[in-house]
Amino acid sequence: MPRSQRTDHEKRQKHIRKRQKAKDARKWLWRLKATIKCNDCGFSHPAVIQFHHLGDKKAGVSEMTKSGSIGALIREMAKCVPLCSNCHAIRHYEERKTGERHGDESDSVTIQLSLL
Ligand SMILES: [Zn+2]
Repeated sequence: MPRSQRTDHEKRQKHIRKRQKAKDARKWLWRLKATIKCNDCGFSHPAVIQFHHLGDKKAGVSEMTKSGSIGALIREMAKCVPLCSNCHAIRHYEERKTGERHGDESDSVTIQLSLL
């Protein structure tokens, strides 16, 4: 195989591996969300759990699955509280109204070790 084709082949393989890692990270996040309750109302369903940033935000946790790095997800989640989509919208509404952030680090996501 000529060198240029081999390089293309390698690029394609790398792209496939990256896509698979992103897919695995998304699955991991869904499984994790199934174990998490909303910090404000206690509701639990993987379809509605979101991660509300308390401070410094690098990126949304769900969009970070694209990186395929579960370590990066965990680091980002440590800066968040889990909220259902309703409570998340209410928090942002309240924050816009008062200009303050609510909650503190003690509310942040605790990840079950079995999922790591
Ligand atoms: Zn809620």
